[in-house]
Parts: sequence; structure tokens; C-alpha cells
Amino acid sequence: MAETGKALHNPLGLLAELTHRCPLGCPYCSNPLALDPRQDELDTPTWARVFAEAAGLGVLQVHLSGGEPGARRDLADLVAAARSAGLYSNLITSAVGITADTLRQLADTGLDHVQISIQDNTPESADRIAGYAGAFARKQALAAEVVRLKIPLTVNAVMHRANIDHLGDMVALALWLGASRVEIAHAQYYGWALKNRAALMPTTDQVKRAAAEVETLRTRHRGEIVIDAVVPDYHARLPKPCVGGWGRRSLNVTPAGKVLPCHAAETIPGLEFWSVREHSLADIWANSPAFNAFRGTAWMREPCRSCARRDVDFGGCRCQAFALTGDARATDPVCHLAPEHDKVAALAAEQHDEPYTYRRM
Ligand code: SF4
Ligand code: SF4
Repeated sequence: MAETGKALHNPLGLLAELTHRCPLGCPYCSNPLALDPRQDELDTPTWARVFAEAAGLGVLQVHLSGGEPGARRDLADLVAAARSAGLYSNLITSAVGITADTLRQLADTGLDHVQISIQDNTPESADRIAGYAGAFARKQALAAEVVRLKIPLTVNAVMHRANIDHLGDMVALALWLGASRVEIAHAQYYGWALKNRAALMPTTDQVKRAAAEVETLRTRHRGEIVIDAVVPDYHARLPKPCVGGWGRRSLNVTPAGKVLPCHAAETIPGLEFWSVREHSLADIWANSPAFNAFRGTAWMREPCRSCARRDVDFGGCRCQAFALTGDARATDPVCHLAPEHDKVAALAAEQHDEPYTYRRM
């Protein structure tokens, strides 16, 4: 039956942004432009309480992310807290800042999975994109340790104009590193990536070649590695079901403790976010104004309101709708039925070889 109201589902995933500190400067970083300073970060007991409350709400997986989670000295305690809450823990790391010793401690405390980002297939290009000399070598070394400790490894390859033509070599690198899965994640234009959009935007031909290559690689490497990939937003006809529906499947806690329906939600002005410092996660999930703003389908306008796909893609991404139209209730302009769809095609055609604005504190 189609949802019409604000049915309260249980969240399944928690993205715990442990810190915004990160030694790298990726120009596509999804962190906000205004980064939380270290002194505002939640302490260990508060995170442990958040994990326990998340498990109580039905959350199964916690993604320990950042910034670079390795910047937290209490990372092993946080993994232990996730384990004792009964959560499956996934560490999303740049690999810079996590030593082999730290990784061993994390494995001993019950870390379930590691996801390492790679920026390109050669050290020169990868380190230039990351804005950090030596990052490529550190990633290779940490990936080898992850595999040696028999922790499942996913390689996260964020694609954009500078590396999309190397997709096949990046998948080969992921295989060589011993990953069981590679996620081909096209840059999503929020935060720093929005600032760098014209410098990151691939051409339509590049996107077409990459999509064909993914299919070839999937056939070639069936049984060896899982290749997950989605069409990049600005080149799609239909929008992604962003975060599985607003306030429906996941929540995101910022380093300072604000709880967001998605990592970019703070880009929408006027939303009121509650903090885990003052509210329980269950209270925030059910009652906070931000989570209820776009929950269900009652908030939708046409063409989404009467569309057969409204319970499939939930009208697309609210942050993208706001970024591209100035109205967070609008149909995501990525949708070919959206009145402002032409804007997306125009932006997808904008490519400038200007220097990156690196993400910095
Ligand atoms: S995307 Fe890059 S800069 Fe941003 S947190 Fe990840 S590694 Fe750090
Ligand atoms: S009109 Fe709305 S619900 Fe229908 S496909 Fe487009 S974004 Fe999805």
C-alpha cells in the first residue's frame, strides 16, 4: 500500500561522524563547509550512549566516519561500544592516521568491516586529488593490514572528471588490494563538491564510457569482487532514493551531536535539528522538526504527489532540490519530470579546469 502519511519506520543505519578533522583535503568531501572544531566533539560516553540508543531503535549497522575517524584517540573504545551495543561496525577511513597497531586494536575490539577510499590509480594523481603527499602509499599499506587481519575490505572509489577514465585500473587496484567489494561512488554535489562542481564534473561521454565499462568489469570479475555503482546524479533521468527516504531508514550524528536525516541536511535553511546532548535518539527520530519535515509523502508537490514512483524514490534528494532550485520541497531537478530539469543538463555541461578548492578546517 502506498504511504501517504508520516509512517514511522525503524532506522537501520547510523552514520556516526566522529570528527571533522582529516589530514586530507579531498575537493569532493561531503563534510559541510563549516566544520565542527575538535573542542565541540562528543566525548566517548556520549557516543556509547548514542550507539546503545541506536540499537534500541532498531539500528543494525554503525558507520564510523568523519572526517578521518583515526583522528579520534578513543577509536578502539568507540568500536568496543558499538560491539557491546550489538551493532555491526564499519570503519570508513582515508587510511591516513590509522597505524597497523591501531588497526590491530580495532580488530581485537570487534571491528567488523573497513572501507578505504582511493583517489586514483597512480600515486601522483591520487595524492594530488587528496591534497596530501604520500596518501596513496599509506592506503596500500593499511589495506594490506586489513586483509592480513581477515577483516572484509571495501574500496570506495569516488569518481569525477580527473579519474573516471581510470575506472578499470581502479577496480584492478581494488582487486590487487584484496577488496571483496568496490563502490564506484560518483561525486555528489553538496558541501565541498558543490564548491568544486565545475572542476569535478565529468563529460557526458566519460559517463557513458564508464557505465559501459562497469558492465564489462562486472562480467569479467564475477565471483572475484562485487562492483557497486550508481549513475551520477546530473547525468541521470531519475533521481536516487536519497537516504532511502527522509527520516525513514537512516540517521546521521555530527561530531558535535546534531542529528540529521542525511549528511547534507544542514544546507537546507530553516530546519531545526536536535542534539543528542539534550534528547534521546528515539525522541529525535520520532519528534524532531527536521526529521518530520519531509517524512512520508504528504509534503510533496506535483509532479511527485501523484507519481507512481513517489514511494520508490521519495521525490529524490531534498538537499539537491534546494541547492538547484532554492526550494527544498521541489521535485529533485535530476528527475526528467521536474519543471527545472533543464538546469541539470546545463550544469552537467559546465566543466572548468580551475584549481580545486581543497577541503580544509
Ligand atoms: S572525503 Fe577526503 S577530506 Fe573528506 S573526510 Fe574523507 S578523506 Fe577526509
Ligand atoms: S516525479 Fe517525483 S516521484 Fe516521480 S519519478 Fe520524478 S522525482 Fe520521483
